[in-house]
Amino acid sequence: LTTAQSIDKISYLVNDTFDTETEVEDPIFSPAGTNILKNENFLLNLHGFVGYFQGLKEVPYELTIKAPASLQPSTSLKETIKGESKQGEKTYLADRYFEVIDNPILYAKPNSVTFQIKDISVTLSVYSPNGTLKAKDLQPKMEAMMQAQKNFLGEIDGTKQYTILLYLSQLSNTDATGFGALEHHTSTVVVLPEQLPKESLEESMVDVVSHEFFHIVTPLSVHSREIQYFDFNAPKMSMHLWMYEGTTEYFANLFQIQQGLIDESAFYERIMDKISNSMGYDDTMSFTTMSKNILEAPYKENYINVYEKGALINMSLDILLRELSKGEKSVRWLMKELSNRYDVNTPFNDPDLLDEIVAMTYPEVSDFFNRHLLGNEPIPYDKYLEKVGLEITSSEQPGSYFFLGQMPYVDANPANLDIIFIRKGVALNSFFQELGAEGGDIIKNINGTDIDLESMRGIIGQSFGWDADKDITMNIERDGEIIELTGKAGTPTYNERKIVSVEAPSEAALALREAWLKN
Ligand SMILES: [Zn+2]
Repeated sequence: LTTAQSIDKISYLVNDTFDTETEVEDPIFSPAGTNILKNENFLLNLHGFVGYFQGLKEVPYELTIKAPASLQPSTSLKETIKGESKQGEKTYLADRYFEVIDNPILYAKPNSVTFQIKDISVTLSVYSPNGTLKAKDLQPKMEAMMQAQKNFLGEIDGTKQYTILLYLSQLSNTDATGFGALEHHTSTVVVLPEQLPKESLEESMVDVVSHEFFHIVTPLSVHSREIQYFDFNAPKMSMHLWMYEGTTEYFANLFQIQQGLIDESAFYERIMDKISNSMGYDDTMSFTTMSKNILEAPYKENYINVYEKGALINMSLDILLRELSKGEKSVRWLMKELSNRYDVNTPFNDPDLLDEIVAMTYPEVSDFFNRHLLGNEPIPYDKYLEKVGLEITSSEQPGSYFFLGQMPYVDANPANLDIIFIRKGVALNSFFQELGAEGGDIIKNINGTDIDLESMRGIIGQSFGWDADKDITMNIERDGEIIELTGKAGTPTYNERKIVSVEAPSEAALALREAWLKN
């Protein structure tokens, strides 16, 4: 701006992101997006509305919003009452730019509840266009879950206020299509389809919010300078996604068994799923290197592994700490210690954290970090499970040609539903393996039938009547090349891996397991 010195004010128009999700190639994930729907709702993820001037990120912001009186705002942003404020106008204060964008606001017809979890005031606000879901109906499940989370956290202190903004989409052309959630320090935005049955909605909310709420520990309290002073134009990433996402995801599972919401076998099943899923990513990639470079290839493609292997790193470290401390210390203990040293305004120094943790704990932890976090050595999960008297068993089970339980081995490309491919990161059944198929292969033709979404459905239907000695010819595309795979239909089996107790666990192993899961 060449005449910036003489500018009094700048005004500009913004468009929302929900409208354009189906038009642009790389749409903004809905929970991070914005919506402007006159007299219905305004979803203000404020980075979509408010900018900053270079060098002025750390100054206080005052935000005045004028909205129809029929819509009620929900946010964790601090409101200030100004003497001259006009009707329908609200003014919010933020200490710095980060606080502006860390506090989304949902304007919607009144549909919210506020409840108390010990010293935290939680507000759940719902935008349900057809009025099918009331915040009040969701409250009991959410309250019970967050109460259990707070019990699990014990003395770990987080926030005094937490806001859950749930936006339900009608799936129309101009509505949200990216389902899931985005966490903020003291709030979370969740986007789900309104047509989901109430039970599924509740289940999704429990899964999603339990993870997001644990982010009050990390990165809210415990985070590095890279996060505190985030450079939006030239982002420098932290090496500690194993903690920000991994510890959070691990806690989101551990608290459920510790608080008796699920039993041991359900917990082991979740861990086994994470082990299987993590094998779909590069298990020999240094997790800290990946984290530091997560915005670039080949690290970017492994991001989802922060929820899989990231949680397993924490599980292994947790068992190790319990073992070395005779059951006393744990990852939860560690996070409490770290949250005493660091808080919202006190970041740690990124490269020093691991040394600091080693100094707080045991030399063996240094070895663990060097091998499995900094280094590229896969974690021998069976060795860690053995310490708590568990083992991974594997057996061949009868299956079907195209499904593993409810999950199909094949999927359609979301950008073109007529491109059918074999899922990656899934252990394939004997049918696909014996044909020589691999995850990622695009199926072009099966026994003379060209494959699109409809013909694939037809073949899946027919496959229930296939004989074991039926001849199969499958043309697939791999790395741009068409390959013909031939073989028999066979009798499909799949390899089932389970975490179970060893037959006669030692007393020490049982005591350690008890400390790990119940203390
Ligand atoms: Zn997360």
